[in-house]
Amino acid sequence: MNPIRRIYLDHSATTPVRPEVREAMEPFLGPTAFGNPSSVLYSWGREARRAVEEARSKVARLIGAQPEEIIFTSGGTEADNLALLGVAWAHRERGRHIITSSIEHQAVLQPLKYLEGQGFEVTYLPVTPEGLVEVEQLSRALRKDTILVSVMYVNNEIGTIQPIEEIGRLARERGIIFHTDAVQAAGKIPINVEKLSVDLLSLSAHKIYGPKGVGALYVRKGVDLHPLLFGGGQERGIRPGTENVPGIVGMGRAAELALQEMDKEMPRLQALRDKLVKGVLGRIEDLVLTGHREKRIPNHASFCFAHVEGESLLVELDCKGVAASSGSACSTGEAGPSHVLLALGLPPELAHGSLRLTLGRDNTEEDIDYVLEVLPEAVFRLRQLSPSYQKAI
Ligand SMILES: *Cc1c(COP(=O)(O)O)cnc(C)c1O
Repeated sequence: MNPIRRIYLDHSATTPVRPEVREAMEPFLGPTAFGNPSSVLYSWGREARRAVEEARSKVARLIGAQPEEIIFTSGGTEADNLALLGVAWAHRERGRHIITSSIEHQAVLQPLKYLEGQGFEVTYLPVTPEGLVEVEQLSRALRKDTILVSVMYVNNEIGTIQPIEEIGRLARERGIIFHTDAVQAAGKIPINVEKLSVDLLSLSAHKIYGPKGVGALYVRKGVDLHPLLFGGGQERGIRPGTENVPGIVGMGRAAELALQEMDKEMPRLQALRDKLVKGVLGRIEDLVLTGHREKRIPNHASFCFAHVEGESLLVELDCKGVAASSGSACSTGEAGPSHVLLALGLPPELAHGSLRLTLGRDNTEEDIDYVLEVLPEAVFRLRQLSPSYQKAI
């Protein structure tokens, strides 16, 4: 085998740690800055504390929050679990009804499923064929005993941006707590928790060129949460346990860079993405672009190809050095086609042929040209082997 190009186009699954982020983390992995941030009676501890608080400010700045409103967690999954279970357990006497969308990440759907087993009732809002939640429908689903609304800001599989500001306004008017999973929105579109009227917002570092295993939950001042863990009083007792100092420092630096570079980097990625989409639609037949054409994050393209198995397509692309995904990396355990694509109303056969290409910092125009060369060939090859395609033509 000749060495081939390797092109990573799965930035919605994870991103590499940026060199600047790694550099910021390094001192806290070494022999000098290893202190426990709770041990503030000596300099080692104080130095670690200062670093954690600096990172908290940087993460807060990315979303227009106050530093005291940021709780560090072990990632996006824990942030989602803390938001949902934390609200449900703290407010169960007020009501047991929760509203969400049918296209949430498993980190939201699974805790909600658990709550259903605990006597909570969950309404799963349908979405339009473009993947949008309709605020009108949400409004009609609200009840006297609704304690929480959770709708993701950006969907990981189809990139669709939800009308979070309108949903937030509605929830605020009714005095209902509003959570949004903004893991895929952060660093891609501006986020301001005040403007959006959100009460809780989940973030993950490894989706914004930070390290894996660290994330954050924004908790608006005055919102009462029941903790998931019990221990020391770290993170205001909402998330006890000695802080992951290097991870948190890395997340802070990643958030700072994401905010600094968004205005320049996102238009660049959008131009590449648009070229990619146009090229795919022009070169391949029998496919649909999934998600909304405009209301989507700038680095995200997703398609469904008829008469093609998504996983076979990934294998073909991998042979050409291209990393992409089908469905989502987080639902590989899911039997059958993705719940998100089915919620769009796509027929299961078509949903099986899904492909997601998500661009990032290292991608260039040459990468897109290369993908536009190898992807049509791969689809063509697979279709030649497909009985359903042979029958259709
Ligand atoms: C990746 C992702 C998560 C999970 O975050 P982790 O840090 O990997 O636990 C949650 N929600 C969405 C939308 C995601 O894309």
